Amino acid sequence: YKHLFHGRVSAVNKTNYEVITEGGLLLCELTGNLLYGRSLFELPCTGDWIIFQPFDDNKGIIVDVLPRKHTLFRKKSGTISDRQAIASHVDKAFIVQSLDANFSVRRTERFMVQVLEENIQPVLILTKSDLEFSRHQVDESLKHIARQIPIFFTSILSPETILPVRKFIRQGESIVFVGSSGVGKSSLINVLCERTVLPTSEISKSSGKGRHTSTRREMVLMDDSGILIDTPGVREFGLASDNPEALADIFDISDFAESCRFENCTHVDEPGCAVVEAVNNGLLKFEVYNSYLKLRKESWYFSTSEHEKR
Ligand code: GDP
Ligand code: ZN
Repeated sequence: YKHLFHGRVSAVNKTNYEVITEGGLLLCELTGNLLYGRSLFELPCTGDWIIFQPFDDNKGIIVDVLPRKHTLFRKKSGTISDRQAIASHVDKAFIVQSLDANFSVRRTERFMVQVLEENIQPVLILTKSDLEFSRHQVDESLKHIARQIPIFFTSILSPETILPVRKFIRQGESIVFVGSSGVGKSSLINVLCERTVLPTSEISKSSGKGRHTSTRREMVLMDDSGILIDTPGVREFGLASDNPEALADIFDISDFAESCRFENCTHVDEPGCAVVEAVNNGLLKFEVYNSYLKLRKESWYFSTSEHEKR
C-alpha cells in the first residue's frame, strides 16, 4: 500500500467507523480481510488505533488494527474468542453508579476485577448525590475496597462536586465510562466537557430505568484535558481472571493470605488457609469473603470452559 495513515476509532456505527485523524474526522469502512474470517473480538472498537487508506475526500478504509492494550470487553458467551472489545487503550475506568437502587457493591467489585487486570485504574463515581442516601451506609459497604479505588460523589446539580473529578483527569489520558444505562454517564460527560456532546435519556417513570437512547460507543475530547469514552448499556463485563492474588488484592485480604500454609493457596478449602481462619475469627467479614468466592468461581469457570474447548 501507498498512502497509509494512523487514526483512532472514535465511534462504532452499524456499518462504518468514525476515525479521528490528523486531517479531522473520517468515516471508514473495513477491508474485506478484516470484515470476514475474524472473530468479534478482533473487529475495531472505540479507542483502537488503526491504519487506514483514504479515498474520496472524507472517507477511508481501515486496513489494520494496531495491537491493543488496556482493553475492556464484553463477554458474549463463556469463551474467550467470543468476547467483544468495547474500549481500548484506556488509562482509567470510571465505574459509574447512581446513589439509588442502582448502587451495588458487588457490581463495583466485578468491574474492578477486569479493569485492574487490564492495568487500567478503576475509579468509582457515585452520581446523583443530590438524592437522599445514607453516606454512612455507603462508606461502610465500600470499606473493604476503599484502599484500591478513588471514590467521587457527584451531582450534575452542584459544580463543586464535579471540579475534583475534572482535576483528576490528566491531559491526553483516555477514560472509559462504564455502568448501567440511566446512572448518568452521558450527563456527567456533558458537564465535564462544559457543553452538550452526548444526548441524555429521560428516566422512565414506570421502570425507573433510563431509556436506551443508543448502543453507540462514542469518544469525546475535553478541551485541553482527557479523552472520554461512553459505553452505553454495558451492565457487566466478562471476567478473564484466574489469578487468586489479584482477587485477594481487590478484596484487601492479601494481608491474611501471606500467612497461608501454601503459597498458591486459593483460600477455598486448603488446609492452613489464613483467610478462612480470619473469617472464622471474625477478623474478615463473611460477606467480603463470600464476594471473593463468587468472583473466583466465575473467573475459574470462564478460564476452564476456554481450556476445555481447545
Ligand atoms: P446514562 O444512560 O448513564 O448516560 O444516563 P443519562 O446521563 O442519560 O442520565 C439518566 C437520567 O438521570 C437523566 O434523566 C438525567 O437527567 C438524570 N441524572 C443524571 N445525573 C444526575 C444527577 O447528578 N442528579 C440527578 N438527580 N439526576 C441525574
Ligand atoms: Zn488461603
